[in-house]
Amino acid sequence: MGKGKLFIVGLGPGEARYLTPEASEALAQAEALYGYQPYLERVPVRVGQARNPSDNREELTRAGAALAHAAAGATVAMVSGGDPGVFAMAAAVIEAIEAGPAEWRALDLVIVPGITAMLAVAAKCGAPLGHDFCAISLSDNLKPWEVIEKRLRLAAQAGFAMAFYNPVSKARPHQLDTAFDILRAELPASVPVIFGRAVGRPDERMRVVPLANARGHMADMATCIIVGSPETRLVERPGLPALVYTPRRAGDD
Ligand code: SAH
Repeated sequence: MGKGKLFIVGLGPGEARYLTPEASEALAQAEALYGYQPYLERVPVRVGQARNPSDNREELTRAGAALAHAAAGATVAMVSGGDPGVFAMAAAVIEAIEAGPAEWRALDLVIVPGITAMLAVAAKCGAPLGHDFCAISLSDNLKPWEVIEKRLRLAAQAGFAMAFYNPVSKARPHQLDTAFDILRAELPASVPVIFGRAVGRPDERMRVVPLANARGHMADMATCIIVGSPETRLVERPGLPALVYTPRRAGDD
């Protein structure tokens, strides 16, 4: 007991070139992999390495299975898209450890960071996160929608740029439009809104529109949205997409 090891590995936003060398090493060491099926599919198959795919929304069960496997003495890797600490498996595993048997606390736990979606999206279009920002999941699976509305309003009032994860789902088709309406009441109509879809994958798509024109149908679940602060602006370039950036200095109002 105590010799088991659990890696929680961030795969980055897309293709293998976004994987860090540390993440590659962790994946190579693992006897067994756990994770949401589409993320596991990004990891090359290795002979002798067991793969345990699971469904979305089964995070706690998946975390418990990986912890029990590691506690039995195995080296196990749990994979997440992007960074495992951002709306992903690291918190689910620690939640399971908090509620689980004492032996899970003795495990060698290594969390391997990855490039999170908002950083990949930001890098594609300039420097929209160049000053203070926050990240908000728009999913109301794990918190009431009223809390999301309140955070949107206060973050806009505080002058943060914002990155939105989980912007839409079939179960809540209208909430993103509601979110934009809330922001339009607080922010200038010209604030740039960036829709970065499947960034780092072959079907990547970037779109920048002013807040006045931002609509829910412009995003799907593979989209990370960045809404600028009142200072965020475009720098036009001849024959090239405009750069979106948030100056390093904020107004003193
Ligand atoms: N741990 C992940 C986020 C998981 S939540 C990370 O750090 O990136 C899932 C959400 O992440 C999606 O709904 C979408 O908003 C965002 N996302 C994940 N991969 C993305 C990509 N390649 N391009 C744009 N957004 C992405």
